[in-house]
Amino acid sequence: MERYNKYSSYLKDLYGEKVYKIPVNLPLTCPNRDGEVAHGGCTFCGEVATGFEALDNDLSVRTQLETNIEKMTKRYKAKKYIAYFQNFTNTYLPLNEFKTYLEEACIEDVVEICISSRPDCINDAYLEILKDIESRFSVNISVELGLQSMDHKTLSQINRGHSLAEFIDAVMRIKKYGFKVGVHLILNLPWDDLEDTIETAKVMSALDIDLIKIHSLYILKNTKMGDDYLNNAFTVESVDSYVDKVVSFISYTQSKVAFQRLLGRAPKEETLFCNWNMSWWKIQDMIEMKLENSNIVQGDHCDYLNGKAVKKFI
Ligand code: SF4
Repeated sequence: MERYNKYSSYLKDLYGEKVYKIPVNLPLTCPNRDGEVAHGGCTFCGEVATGFEALDNDLSVRTQLETNIEKMTKRYKAKKYIAYFQNFTNTYLPLNEFKTYLEEACIEDVVEICISSRPDCINDAYLEILKDIESRFSVNISVELGLQSMDHKTLSQINRGHSLAEFIDAVMRIKKYGFKVGVHLILNLPWDDLEDTIETAKVMSALDIDLIKIHSLYILKNTKMGDDYLNNAFTVESVDSYVDKVVSFISYTQSKVAFQRLLGRAPKEETLFCNWNMSWWKIQDMIEMKLENSNIVQGDHCDYLNGKAVKKFI
C-alpha cells in the first residue's frame, strides 16, 4: 500500500505511462542575485543555482532536449517527456525571448512544459504566453515556485527577497489559468519547528497546491549559509527530527497532492552538510518505515478543508 502519493504514480495516471523530466538550462540569472531585488541571492544558493544535472546553457533548448531525450530513449525506452526549465528564475527574461524558448521546447514527445520560478516573478504577461503555448502545441503546463519556508521571518533570514504574500498571489494567478502548481519547501531550516511544518502543510492544501517537492537542507560551500554554518551560527536538527517533520507534513497534506521528492540531493564535493552523511534513499526508507509503523496515510489529519473545521451546529 502506498502511504503517500508519489509523483511517478501521478504522472503514470495522467499520461498512461512513465514520463521523464528533462532539465533545460537557460542563460539566466535571478532578481535576487543581480540586484533587482537583492544581491547575493538566497543564503543557501550556489553559483549554479539548482541545476546540477543540466547541460550547458550555451546549447540551444532544442539541442539540450534532443541530447537528453536520445539518452533516455536508449536507456529506458522512454516515450514521453517533460521539458523542465529548472535553473534560476525562468520568468525573469524579456517576454519575446520567453516565448521563443518555449516554442523551441515543443518538440515531438514533449507532453508538458514545466517552468520553475520565484513567486515575485509571476505576472499575467508570462502566463498568457504559456496559455498560448498550451493551446497551439497541445502540451500541458505546470509552474514550480520556490518558497522554502512559509514564515516571513525565516524568509528574511535566508534572504529570499519576497514574503508569503507574493507566493499566495502567484499561486492564485497561476490557478486562474488552469495550470498545475508545484512548490519547493525546505522542512528543516533551523528557524522552523514542527508546528511551522504542520501549518505549512495545511496552507499548501488550502491553496490547492498540486505538487510538492520537499528538500532536506543541504549546505553548499562558498555560500552565506555555508559561512554561517562553519561559524556555528546555527545547527541542523537530527535526521530523526527531519523524519518526524516529513511524516507530519504528509499526514496533514490533502491526499490528491503528489510528492515529487522528500529529500534534497547535491554532489558531495560541493557541500559542507548533506543528508547527515547518509544516502537519500536510506532516509526515504526511514520516512516510509515511520509511516508504516505509525499507520499514517497522506491526508489522515486533513480535517480542516471545505468547511470541515466547523464542528458544531452543522
Ligand atoms: S531564488 Fe532561486 S536562483 Fe534566485 S537566489 Fe534564490 S535559490 Fe538562487
